[in-house]
Amino acid sequence: MHKVVLKAGREKSLLRRHPWVFSGAVARIDGKASFGDTAHVVANDGGFLALAAVNPDANISARVWDWNETTQINTAFFHRRLETAIGMRRTLFPRKPDEAERLVHGESDGLPGLIVDRYADVVVLQISSAGCHRWREAIIASLQQLTSARALYERSDADVLELEGLTARAGLVRGELETPVVHIMESGVHLQVDVAKGHKTGFYLDQRDNRLQVGELAAGRDVLNCFSYTGGFTLQALAHGAASVTSVDSSAEALQLGREHVRMNAFAEDRCEWVDADVFQYLRKLRDQDRQFDLIILDPPKFAPTAATAERAARGYKDINLLAFKLLRPGGLLATFSCSGGVPADLFRKIVAGAALDANVDAQVVNQFHSTPDHPVLLAFPEGEYLKGLLCRIN
Ligand code: SAH
Repeated sequence: MHKVVLKAGREKSLLRRHPWVFSGAVARIDGKASFGDTAHVVANDGGFLALAAVNPDANISARVWDWNETTQINTAFFHRRLETAIGMRRTLFPRKPDEAERLVHGESDGLPGLIVDRYADVVVLQISSAGCHRWREAIIASLQQLTSARALYERSDADVLELEGLTARAGLVRGELETPVVHIMESGVHLQVDVAKGHKTGFYLDQRDNRLQVGELAAGRDVLNCFSYTGGFTLQALAHGAASVTSVDSSAEALQLGREHVRMNAFAEDRCEWVDADVFQYLRKLRDQDRQFDLIILDPPKFAPTAATAERAARGYKDINLLAFKLLRPGGLLATFSCSGGVPADLFRKIVAGAALDANVDAQVVNQFHSTPDHPVLLAFPEGEYLKGLLCRIN
């Protein structure tokens, strides 16, 4: 068995069951361990710590499969892990066949570098680690068996792949798909998901429950949905009787799909405005035009993937939150989110507090948001808790 030997004193995070081994903690990698091989991670004194997949050239040198020395890493192992992940959702959060859900959430489901999303009867997988790349065929075979999907589509084309030394790979891997646009239902609304060209695996499933909760507050209100993508929040707001919804995004294709969604659901098109713009600039324009809203949603992309980029990200969050507070009518609500792993929840709250202060408003937090629960967070892996949100009300 290959061995990853840690430097003296660097076993602490593994003893706490954190599943990553950073290259800085590694003294040497014994044997001829190459990309994706299974190895024993051992302390400097040789004591066993974990079974892991090796990636000798990456910043994360090894990702843990299991903490038990006797576990066999083979096709049956992957089948069991996938069965457990899918079974947990079936028991705790059953979803209808025409809905969408996350079936596998990487490290938090014991499968580092694997994301699996189900869009109705189409399953999309994303592999972003050397270890899952090595076991790709076994994973695909098990997924087909466990989900009985009409089609399996691969979207291993995220930016993070490069860090791991993987080349992008996307396309149909099993079954048939006459069009990559899949119809799903979400909390009663019709949606289309382009599994070939959509962001991530096609849609932002982590916000599903938050879209519903925020939408339920929209009745009779003028809503501004910033970073709308294909209109997930917009549609829930319309479904719950919003007076008007202005949706802003810089992706013309996303906005086009958003407009189609309004028609598909037979919502009033004259209550909707779709704006192709940079949110940072457009918020200033709205301010200069003295426009006002009763409910504003800010769901920006990841400004800070890592802690190192947190400071620049903080300035971005402060800017849009400050402008949004200023555009609210008295009694207005701001649903503000951050999906930056590098910005923890307490820092995000401080940034939003600073924005309220500078906007000269008194704001109360009336609710807090997290990822929808089919995106579990392994307690030993706080990085899994990347999405956080606050619902603020101003007087
Ligand atoms: N709220 C959406 C997901 C938003 S993802 C949902 O529930 O589905 C972030 C979106 O921000 C993407 O659609 C991206 O196109 C858009 N975006 C990124 N930077 C932007 C900018 N500076 N101005 C406007 N839109 C931007």
